[in-house]
Amino acid sequence: MAGAAMLAVYSTSGGAGAPAFAVAGGRAATAATRHAVASRVTARASAKSSSGEKSSSVAALVAGAAASGAFALSGNRRGKVSRTFRSSRVKLQAANLEISEENPLRVIIAGGGVGGLMLAKALSKEPTMRCTILEQTNQFARFGGPIQIASNALSVIRDIDETLFNNLMDKFTFTGCRQNGLVDPLRNEWYCPFDAMKTSADHFELPYTGVVDRPDLQEILLNAIPEGMLQNSQKVSGYEVLPDYAGVKVQTKGGEDVECDVLIGNDGIWSAIRAQMWDEDQKGPGSGCTYSGYIVFAGETIYKPDDYFDVGYKVYMGPKRYFVTSDVGRGRIQWYAFVAVGEGEQVPRGPREKKDYVKAAFQGWSQQVQDLLEATPSDTVEDRSLYDRPPSVGRSWADGPVALAGDACHPMMPNLGQGGCQAMEDAYMIVQKLKGCKSRSEVPDALQDYYRSRVFRASAIQGLSRIASDLLLSTFTFPWKPSEGLSSPHGKGRGDFNYNAVAVSYLKYLLPSIFNIQFSFLYSYHPFKWTAAEVQSLVKKTMDRHRKDSEAAWAQREEAVRDGTVGALEEEQKKPSFFTLAAQTK
Ligand SMILES: Cc1cc2nc3c(=O)[nH]c(=O)nc-3n(C[C@H](O)[C@H](O)[C@H](O)COP(=O)(O)OP(=O)(O)OC[C@H]3O[C@@H](n4cnc5c(N)ncnc54)[C@H](O)[C@@H]3O)c2cc1C
Repeated sequence: MAGAAMLAVYSTSGGAGAPAFAVAGGRAATAATRHAVASRVTARASAKSSSGEKSSSVAALVAGAAASGAFALSGNRRGKVSRTFRSSRVKLQAANLEISEENPLRVIIAGGGVGGLMLAKALSKEPTMRCTILEQTNQFARFGGPIQIASNALSVIRDIDETLFNNLMDKFTFTGCRQNGLVDPLRNEWYCPFDAMKTSADHFELPYTGVVDRPDLQEILLNAIPEGMLQNSQKVSGYEVLPDYAGVKVQTKGGEDVECDVLIGNDGIWSAIRAQMWDEDQKGPGSGCTYSGYIVFAGETIYKPDDYFDVGYKVYMGPKRYFVTSDVGRGRIQWYAFVAVGEGEQVPRGPREKKDYVKAAFQGWSQQVQDLLEATPSDTVEDRSLYDRPPSVGRSWADGPVALAGDACHPMMPNLGQGGCQAMEDAYMIVQKLKGCKSRSEVPDALQDYYRSRVFRASAIQGLSRIASDLLLSTFTFPWKPSEGLSSPHGKGRGDFNYNAVAVSYLKYLLPSIFNIQFSFLYSYHPFKWTAAEVQSLVKKTMDRHRKDSEAAWAQREEAVRDGTVGALEEEQKKPSFFTLAAQTK
């Protein structure tokens, strides 16, 4: 629409300017030619450049210079008419570029994942913005598995919308106010508790980190955006930046091109928008994304360990593998088993075989791990190879009116549980920057500003997640315990006296300071602030509901076991999972 309107501006100008050219005669013809050439230069420069911001402004300068030269020439003969022409052209162009409720900024979001939906919600609250999400999947299936939302992201969500936040709290489980940390899997004792999770949140007076089921989060977000904002079965394949701040032409696979003022690539780790912007392959070795060396297996079950209400999550650490368990509400425990597996190495495909593989990989680990695996229905066990990429600090996430967000620009390992949280921070920042724009000509600068505001924080978290993952893979092992002497009662190579085991044993004295810095840094971004009393009341309300839900779920399961209907109960609670969905959408 803006493109068409721009054409209208030029034809109006041409019409108004016609007498001037006619009067100017031969020179005016030269001037008109220059104007036309300038417009073509503008179009070519904008379309070809890899930096829309620079190209638009350079092209505009070239066009402006050529055009003003033309009018100056004609002005020698009929100065008054020419000045009137120029000022009306400028006024018309400015009016067309202006962002207002009548002429809102049209934003297209490629990808309706966590980041895209959150961005859409935030944009929907701005009267000067209109937003459409183009999502490749044909419909949103409910899929299982929890997502951790850390204190920083909770603050972002609350600042975006209070109702959205309250709806989230209705399904939320706080973990950060309970015991969390690294566990020695041989001795089944805390190796390094994450006390800083709570103390850092308390310091900033933030609600604690916690978890919500992904399908619940998705449903909450889908209900929060206006109807019709999301368009399924729309796979974005590329874009073309239009000249003169006329916006972007978004190309869709097998569909029509769509024009808008701003395109945000929220299309995940295998982003088509990033591939074009950074001139990389979308997938494979040329994509910049690499296999992390880990496959993660995941499963979930209704389960009641003795410490269910006291513990948020535990990370059992060992050589080349670790096992994470988390309370995810409604009496359930989710587990993730990270196993170092060479690229291309085969892992079992059938669900029963997958579970057996995980059981074998964690044999001899804490009884809690064994019991949990035993209790997990085989058909909930899934696996996924993990990919990430190193931080791309020097590469802008923006190209004129196009920008990247979320996993598209900073895909990270899940160690810190921050990938989705960072996508939410991106969404928040994009809206902060765009809503400051009065004219479409300010959009490229605003998006560069968004990139500059976000790149160091997101890259630090992305880098930290990668380093943590690499260190775990290369150096971590069972710690040595001085009181057990030189040999270990757990067997050779299992926590006995050797260089790595001793180093890991003493590392635990250093780690609390590192985690303190880490959590302080993570939570230091919090646009919305609560009082300590508000936080406590929120936590109490949420955790009272959590206790009731959990006890009801355990009672229902016990009854099903007694009646011999536990299989039917599990079937009823089964949903296609996050992993399945991710695999389907590749
Ligand atoms: C095992 C695991 C555990 C994790 N745990 C956590 C956690 O606890 N907390 C946390 O914050 N993060 C976690 N993450 C990371 C988190 O899932 C991602 O960072 C987050 O989903 C990124 O959101 P996004 O919107 O950028 O991308 P995605 O969620 O990947 O969404 C991208 C969307 O774009 C669509 N799409 C893709 N290509 C196109 C196209 N060409 N056109 C149109 N649509 C397209 C996809 O279908 C999808 O809907 C975890 C990741 C993994 C793998």
